[in-house]
Amino acid sequence: MNILLLGSGGREHALAWKIASSPLVEQLYCAPGNAGIAQEAEIVALDVADHAAVIAFCRAQKIGLVVVGPEAPLCAGIVDDLTAAGIKAFGPSKAAAQLEGSKGFTKDLCRTNRIPTAAYERFTAAAPAKVYVRAQGAPIVVKADGLAAGKGVVVAQSLAEAEAAIDMMFGGGLGEAGAEVVVEEFLDGEEATFMVLCDGETAIALASAQDHKRVFDGDEGPNTGGMGAYSPAPVMTPELTRRAMDEIVLPTVRAMKAMGAPYKGVLYAELMITADGPKLIEYNVRFGDPECQVLMLRLMSDLVPALLACCDGVLKSFDLRWFPDAALTVVMAAKGYPGSYAKGSVIEGLDAAAKVEGVEVFHAGTRAEGGTILADGGRVLSVSALGKTVGEAQARAYAAVDRIRWPDGFCRRDIGWRAVERERTGR
Ligand code: AMP
Repeated sequence: MNILLLGSGGREHALAWKIASSPLVEQLYCAPGNAGIAQEAEIVALDVADHAAVIAFCRAQKIGLVVVGPEAPLCAGIVDDLTAAGIKAFGPSKAAAQLEGSKGFTKDLCRTNRIPTAAYERFTAAAPAKVYVRAQGAPIVVKADGLAAGKGVVVAQSLAEAEAAIDMMFGGGLGEAGAEVVVEEFLDGEEATFMVLCDGETAIALASAQDHKRVFDGDEGPNTGGMGAYSPAPVMTPELTRRAMDEIVLPTVRAMKAMGAPYKGVLYAELMITADGPKLIEYNVRFGDPECQVLMLRLMSDLVPALLACCDGVLKSFDLRWFPDAALTVVMAAKGYPGSYAKGSVIEGLDAAAKVEGVEVFHAGTRAEGGTILADGGRVLSVSALGKTVGEAQARAYAAVDRIRWPDGFCRRDIGWRAVERERTGR
């Protein structure tokens, strides 16, 4: 079949790499893509926000499956429009994508269905939000309801910080996303993520993966989209996986079905492992980026039938197999990220980097000009490797990083440190 992949990041390069390896695929297209994805797929100049144009392209090229990478088109209802046009699409409907698109929606769903999450209230004005914050005390967490590209959460250590966040959000600092605000209890514990494939009724767990959100070594500095990831993540023990499935994911899947918005696609649960067990921090309605990169390296099964099974509601009779190897990815970002950064600097040494054993260099934000690869985003490369252990995958990924000549880029040097430490000490 012909497949159209939507997106342009490291996640989509990894998906393109895996999809292209499937014997079921005749032609893979990607919009808008990047210079790395162009090695796996034919890049098409489609405006993903123009659903009619996407549908027309699918009809013209006889697309059998559309795979939607990022959350924005999902929340904009692209799967609904494609489905209505008779085109199969992987990802949740607009109603189901509210699990990421509206934090208030998800919190209410948790409350109604007794899904463990931080205590919270929703607000549409600053004054009552501040009254609530003062009554609760700090630390406390202030969240914009809508999609805010990773900038919508403030973990406030003081009341002043919480009130400033409330003013910023209601003052329009995050646009429409901040028109409603959720204020919630600060949860203490170790963070973990749990991803499943879902067909509306059945959920199957993906291999565990953990990302690093902070920009600097030692998990310091501002939050980013993710500076690296590794899999497996020892924090997700079999017992925790079972609890996350039974107490969080399956009740959500049942609730979505009951409200007439069955969830199909990847459901990504961000968890806090507290003294009382796992609690939901938030949902994402797509593969994590960069977690997807490490999962695709470890996935032994063909991805395409799995995506089709989600669309067709037949996941119950499905199974995913994984390589026992560990995988790790290091994100190389443009200097200045997650703040402002320059585009257009030259990246060299990519071929030499890709020759390191077990390494795949996924592009996250690049474009090609002639034979030259130029940086074209904040997160630019996702240098990924397999290894027998997380430690070996880490060593290989950094060996590849060290072959890349890009003076305008930087990366963290400690991706995977917790897992490597656990491997080293056996605890
Ligand atoms: P989010 O955008 O919801 O993933 O939040 C970004 C980060 O804020 C998370 O990775 C957590 O580190 C932190 N965070 C969010 N909600 C809470 C909470 N209720 N308690 C403690 N930390 C939180």
